[in-house]
Amino acid sequence: MKILVLNAGSSSQKSCLYDLPADNLPTNPPEPIWEAMIDWTVLAEKGVLTVKANAIKQKIELANSDRRSGIAQMLNTLQTGETQVLNSLIEIDMVGHRVVHGGTNYSQATLITDEVKATIKKLIPLAPSHNPAHLEGIETIESLLTNTPQIAVFDTAFHTTIPPEAAFYPIPYKWTKKGIRRYGFHGTSHKYCAQKASKLLNQPLDSLKLITCHIGNGASLTAIKNGISIDTTMGFTPLEGLMMGERSGSIDPAILIYLIREQGFNADQLNHLLNKESGLKGVSQMSADLRSILQAMQEGNEQAKLAFEMYIHRFRACLGQMLASLGGLDGLVFTAGVGENSAIVREKVCEGFAFLGLKLDPQKNAQSPINQDISTTDSLIRVLVIHTEEDWAIAEECWNFK
Ligand code: ADP
Repeated sequence: MKILVLNAGSSSQKSCLYDLPADNLPTNPPEPIWEAMIDWTVLAEKGVLTVKANAIKQKIELANSDRRSGIAQMLNTLQTGETQVLNSLIEIDMVGHRVVHGGTNYSQATLITDEVKATIKKLIPLAPSHNPAHLEGIETIESLLTNTPQIAVFDTAFHTTIPPEAAFYPIPYKWTKKGIRRYGFHGTSHKYCAQKASKLLNQPLDSLKLITCHIGNGASLTAIKNGISIDTTMGFTPLEGLMMGERSGSIDPAILIYLIREQGFNADQLNHLLNKESGLKGVSQMSADLRSILQAMQEGNEQAKLAFEMYIHRFRACLGQMLASLGGLDGLVFTAGVGENSAIVREKVCEGFAFLGLKLDPQKNAQSPINQDISTTDSLIRVLVIHTEEDWAIAEECWNFK
């Protein structure tokens, strides 16, 4: 069974193709037989397409920055040239799309119909850089593969179980009824990591209290009780919660009122300030990439040190929040770019919870092991590093849907 996964970012388009047996899903994520990515940030007005298949890596310069024609060219590399893995695109059995915002409408992977497309469109104001890109992907596939079923896997789906006391904001209730509430994001990754943690710990998911920490450029924590998301740090948009690469995370909302009233800011300027110029980048005044911050810290850069210390402080504070929602903790899971690779972040965050009997094994932590327990045998809380596999999780949802 051939499943194509499309993962649209604001300025990128990733895709991969899995070839899976029809009768049995592999227990460990297999390698895709073809992987591609378009990056629209490298060249002005043009995309750069990178394709990996048949042990070959190809780079192709695209003529323009149009997503639809970019996707069509990208998919053409499946059936022509050195990266060819299909005789024809009609061999694709199903297409799975990562969709950032599904509101509270969808708690499961969903077959894409006109109604689902209308919902994704209606939610554009809540995910202005992602939902339009998803729709373009869906419509491009429709035009190329008329009868192939397409499945939407929503980032918000896993969080539809969050109870009202954690999901609602203390604002006039009429706004809650109009949809201003916590939705939560990175749901596919949090769900995948919880399932993987249960396997690694060899304990049923419905007996576990877990906090999954998805820490990449964007970052969120989720409190998971018996396999169900009961709280998460991202909210109405992916801006709330942790301090991130370029995003501020939670700040006093009155700062915005001050900036509007006293400094003449408008909505677009505030959006840019909080989503693109804040976080590690804003505080360090040098980079959103934690690797550069750590390097600068070693060279004695005080601003980088401040950024890192704030990052850790806020991480611990959000973790405390999730801990309070759970009322206990069996396993703490680190995943994504920072979570999987940065031993110092894991060490500093865990140090703050040593009073709970949480003990990291420094040697295991230093080796950044993937899919392993890095706590000591006498630690009262297991600490796991898990490699997130969002594309695979999407393919799995499609396979289960068939
Ligand atoms: P995205 O949220 O864009 O999907 P990723 O999950 O790929 O991001 O994470 C990217 C981030 O991971 C980079 O910006 C970088 O800060 C961080 N990162 C990657 N490797 C390391 C490392 N070895 N040490 C510290 N941070 C790292």
